[in-house]
Amino acid sequence: MSEPTSAIILIGSNIEKEHNIPEAVRLLRRAPGVTVDRVSRIFESPSVGGPPDAPDFFNAAVLVRTGLDIDELRAVAHAVEDELGRVRTADPNAPRTADVDVVYYGEMAEDREGKPIPDPGALEAAHVALPIADVAPEWIHPVDGRTTLEIAEQIDNDGVRPIMAIHLSSPYSPRSPDDFDDVSDVYAPRLEALIRQQLIELGEDPDREGLDRTPLRVAKALDYLTSGYSTSVEEVVNDAIFDAEGAEEMVLLRDIEFYSMCEHHMLPFFGTAAIAYLPKGKIIGLSKIARVLDVFARRLQVQERLTNQIAGALEDILDPHGVAVVLEGRHLCMMMRGVQKQESAMITSAMRGTFKDNPRTRSEFLELIRD
Ligand code: ZN
Repeated sequence: MSEPTSAIILIGSNIEKEHNIPEAVRLLRRAPGVTVDRVSRIFESPSVGGPPDAPDFFNAAVLVRTGLDIDELRAVAHAVEDELGRVRTADPNAPRTADVDVVYYGEMAEDREGKPIPDPGALEAAHVALPIADVAPEWIHPVDGRTTLEIAEQIDNDGVRPIMAIHLSSPYSPRSPDDFDDVSDVYAPRLEALIRQQLIELGEDPDREGLDRTPLRVAKALDYLTSGYSTSVEEVVNDAIFDAEGAEEMVLLRDIEFYSMCEHHMLPFFGTAAIAYLPKGKIIGLSKIARVLDVFARRLQVQERLTNQIAGALEDILDPHGVAVVLEGRHLCMMMRGVQKQESAMITSAMRGTFKDNPRTRSEFLELIRD
């Protein structure tokens, strides 16, 4: 064991590949001495050299950090292949459940037997070069001198293309949870590794049965609970705004459940919202009001800001005479710890336009939302 070295491992499969690629990543992540930092998108490439009807390949590249030397890391790669049931044959074009190869290992240019590192495929084959450029675009080929991105841009690409992302945290992998959920057990490996570490810090054993998949589940849950960062109001409202000439009566939605997380403790706060507006020719589908709320609730929040953001968003998209938002929330950070005032609810409000300027409109609203 020495200072950690970065390495890039390429995974390929053309049998049950939707399953085997993510599974190989998962097994690498579980290998002792190997930390997976990042995973590329999955690339599809036509089978080369095999029978004409051979299934296409999937490839993905994995950026790891490891204290293992290259032989030990190769042994890990072999163990993953074995676990996935690869039968090694002399035919390099035979279908395989998973090929797992160490392509780059630090700045190493040849191994102990004098074989070249990186694997020659890194310069010659698009199905190797493209996933690698996706996962580590600035990595410099120790012999060639170009970055992996330059190599990928200049290589002859015979039909290799990214088709889906298998995790969410890499800046090089566009977020596409829809693609992902169907095919993969891998989500946000860096976040997962942090949560695993957190369990250790808390005195837990992340490998015991009940916690085995907890880091993955927590990563998925956190991703969902903070999905508001990557969702826009325009997106959720879409085309659900209608012209309604002459509609001037107050539109009110009350008892809308909301769930958010406080930014001070990352603990939930939750409760109900009442949202009203006085239209000025434009109305919005009622269900969309709750969706607008969720855009802002699914972030780390303070209740005051959440309240104002909902009001501001409705003002922007509807340009109404006025908007009123009242949130009544219970904060677990108060209920479970500290002062432990379990019955206390926090009420916040934002009044805009007529609701602010006209006391009669405001009291009508407050009357309507009273229990
Ligand atoms: Zn808090």
